[in-house]
Amino acid sequence: MDYDLICVGGGIAGATLGGALARHGARVLILERETRFRDRVRGETVHPWGVAEARALGIADLLLDTCGREVRWWRSSAVGVAGTLERDLIATTPAHTGELTFHHPQMQETLLCAAAEAGAEVRRGAAVVGLAPGSAPAVTLQAAGGSIETLGARLVIGADGRASRARAWAGFAVNRDPERLVVAGLLLASVQLPSDSVQVVSHAATGQFALFFPLRDGRHRVYFAYRRIGTPRPLSGQRQVPAFLAACVEAGADPAWFADAEAVGPLAAFEGADSWVDHPYRDGVALIGDAAVACDPSWGCGLSLSLRDVRTLRDRLLASDDWDAAGRAYAAEHDRYYAALHRLENWRTALVEIGPEADARRARVLPRLAAAAPGDAPDLVGLGPDGPSDAATLCYFS
Ligand SMILES: Cc1cc2nc3c(=O)[nH]c(=O)nc-3n(C[C@H](O)[C@H](O)[C@H](O)COP(=O)(O)OP(=O)(O)OC[C@H]3O[C@@H](n4cnc5c(N)ncnc54)[C@H](O)[C@@H]3O)c2cc1C
Repeated sequence: MDYDLICVGGGIAGATLGGALARHGARVLILERETRFRDRVRGETVHPWGVAEARALGIADLLLDTCGREVRWWRSSAVGVAGTLERDLIATTPAHTGELTFHHPQMQETLLCAAAEAGAEVRRGAAVVGLAPGSAPAVTLQAAGGSIETLGARLVIGADGRASRARAWAGFAVNRDPERLVVAGLLLASVQLPSDSVQVVSHAATGQFALFFPLRDGRHRVYFAYRRIGTPRPLSGQRQVPAFLAACVEAGADPAWFADAEAVGPLAAFEGADSWVDHPYRDGVALIGDAAVACDPSWGCGLSLSLRDVRTLRDRLLASDDWDAAGRAYAAEHDRYYAALHRLENWRTALVEIGPEADARRARVLPRLAAAAPGDAPDLVGLGPDGPSDAATLCYFS
């Protein structure tokens, strides 16, 4: 074996797991095809339940010190409904934390540097082009200069994101939800909104909503979620920026927020439907992060789920010399918490459906949610899969 662990991909999942194992003396190789990270329009906010995972993995303070900020308030308003709902996340979450926001490329750079400092070997510009599962799994990589090399490990980690090739090479079958929402994202400078608050606006009649996340440097990551029906073109590409801003206004954003706003990154749109693998371990290959589950960006749980994967797998690997058994234990646990999260996402999606039935559902559920004691109601932001998600609770809130 050349290494104990080879991570295919140096995103939040691969870099954090690689660093965590290297810190405990494992021989780790992280292979990342990008030499420089760019804005791919990805997650830039970690919900409080994910911040608890980041703390358990020892990266929360690192991210806050280098590229992140804590955002205390979650404010939401809806077209046609008076007032704004305000949630103090620090006061109302078990982890007593706000959202952790950062610019994604800076986060990746920070975590890969930290992994290298912990003793992992990090190769940039190294694209994995093949993977052979088995009792002695191996990956084949192509270096920036074009040379090809095959390296073996006790365990290979597929952490290569939502279009993972590692999972196909390892023979995992991928499940997909039917198409639901589409999510478009854009980085904006000079948005006139407070920096201590996430702002959500929604329009029940069209099922559209927009979310604004303040970053450390004063910019905002803005997402707009919509259904394809009635939307002439996908909101992708710089020429669509005015249409994106107009769509946010239709969903309830105040046009004054955009008076001086300037697009400072690409505009891209993604299918929201979940894609996932059942039991993400087989034959010496474990999948983590988006390679295991790419969940609907509308609900902003992908980074938290990736960190849950890393913490769960790290703990199993550190607790046992039998890494095959550890991989199976991780996968069983993964299935359990993802099933809970998936139920919650489906429930949340039903609340943004359109039509009279959906209106009636909202009229029943939203007042109950507002009146529920903390911890009693489904809560994707504060509790994630650890909050109530059983059929009985969801029926009450449906
Ligand atoms: C529009 C959008 C909005 C989102 N918003 C949120 C949000 O608000 N909050 C949230 O929690 N999550 C959000 N997410 C999800 C979040 O971005 C992902 O869950 C998270 O980035 C997954 O991290 P990862 O490390 O698994 O994958 P990635 O971040 O995709 O990293 C994979 C890495 O692997 C590398 N790689 C790929 N193939 C190879 C190869 N063959 N060889 C070597 N390297 C390779 C890539 O270059 C990349 O660096 C959003 C996603 C989208 C699409």
